[in-house]
Amino acid sequence: MKTEAAVIGAGPAGLIAAEVISSKGYDTTVFEEHRHVGAPVHCAGIISVEGFDRLGVPLDDRFYMNTILGGRLYSADGTCLEIRDRKPRAHIIDRGGFDRYLADVAVDSGVDLRTSTRVKDIVFSKKGVVGIKTGDYAVRSEALINAEGPGGRLMTRAGYITGQEGILNGFNVDLSGVDLEPDMVEVWFNDEASKGFFTWVAPLGGDRARVGLASQGDDGYLALRKFIEKRFNVADVPPISAGRVCTGGPVRRTAYPGMLLVGDVAGQVKPTTAGGVVIGGLCSILAGESASQFMEGGKQTSLGWYEGEWRRLYGRELSTMLTLRRLLNGIGDERMSRMFNAFNEEGMGPRIASLIEDGDMDMQAGIIRRAFMDPVLLGVMAKVVGRVLLSEVLSFFQIG
Ligand SMILES: Cc1cc2nc3c(=O)[nH]c(=O)nc-3n(C[C@H](O)[C@H](O)[C@H](O)COP(=O)(O)OP(=O)(O)OC[C@H]3O[C@@H](n4cnc5c(N)ncnc54)[C@H](O)[C@@H]3O)c2cc1C
Repeated sequence: MKTEAAVIGAGPAGLIAAEVISSKGYDTTVFEEHRHVGAPVHCAGIISVEGFDRLGVPLDDRFYMNTILGGRLYSADGTCLEIRDRKPRAHIIDRGGFDRYLADVAVDSGVDLRTSTRVKDIVFSKKGVVGIKTGDYAVRSEALINAEGPGGRLMTRAGYITGQEGILNGFNVDLSGVDLEPDMVEVWFNDEASKGFFTWVAPLGGDRARVGLASQGDDGYLALRKFIEKRFNVADVPPISAGRVCTGGPVRRTAYPGMLLVGDVAGQVKPTTAGGVVIGGLCSILAGESASQFMEGGKQTSLGWYEGEWRRLYGRELSTMLTLRRLLNGIGDERMSRMFNAFNEEGMGPRIASLIEDGDMDMQAGIIRRAFMDPVLLGVMAKVVGRVLLSEVLSFFQIG
């Protein structure tokens, strides 16, 4: 078969890119290995309020669940730092419903969505990528959008090592019958349970919560069960879903002749929180525009515009967040607890809250920079964490 644009994967990145290309009048086909879009779900579903505006997606009853104002951060010794905003900061969504909503929008724009169709290979010629192969047939494409998700199995199989780093094992489960504040997320730092990341509790409304963690270790599943037993006294835990979480920043290359990488496979994910729906979605809009320009201009244009443009807009944001992620990974439970205690002793909760209140949940570089420019905050961190650990951050911001 032939299609002008082929898209691997019906996650948010693939669906958003497909809709952009199809809306411009190009034949666009999405190939999704699962029988249904949006299943299985492995996502906490926390999306910033501004993220919806940026993506141009209205809040819809098909996926909206709850709105949150802030968070309670806990260090391993149980010290709590509360950061509460006056305005809504994030919405919690049903990710399956969200992906199905995006699929409906894409199909309405003319996209041919083929579920239960696994792409087995990316087909290369001397000129570059010319299509894909499913188990049953080959597909020729002018532009291929690879949105296959974290890890890039197809890229690796094709001999392209993307160099994606910092992929952790993530686990998630929805609980009911639990008691928690309706508009605050909980974030628990504890290396034993979630080394290299954290454990989260997101209120879903009523007595329901979504609880999960990501970890560098291979015992995250058991760690999550243990956390749930301790935090909620629930022994009968419903089935836990597992997925991969990206915290290592972008891959080295995302534009190849005939092919663009978008979303998790490109590492377009915030290394601080592993949120990839918004930033991956924004990059997918650019990929869709780039592929459309390429098909319109033929040999006069190149898909390379995409690589330069998304890095220009979001590259610095991602590298700033990656610098903070590396610092957090090096701190360890004991120093983190001391830092939280020092923050509380200095009454810094409101100071941090006001930094975050003025900041942006997706483009976090501004908040991070302001935090490290704040003499009181920096003083506490230097005293507790030590300048050696802070050195990468300080040199990143060229702070003496
Ligand atoms: C536990 C967990 C919690 C998370 N929480 C959040 C959160 O709260 N907020 C947030 O913004 N992000 C969160 N994320 C990250 C978010 O889920 C990803 O950033 C996002 O899904 C990336 O979208 P994508 O389209 O690039 O990839 P995916 O959503 O992974 O979609 C890739 C699609 O490609 C399909 N596919 C793969 N290979 C093939 C193939 N060979 N042929 C056909 N189809 C194929 C897959 O089936 C899948 O449908 C979380 C991730 C995990 C694991």
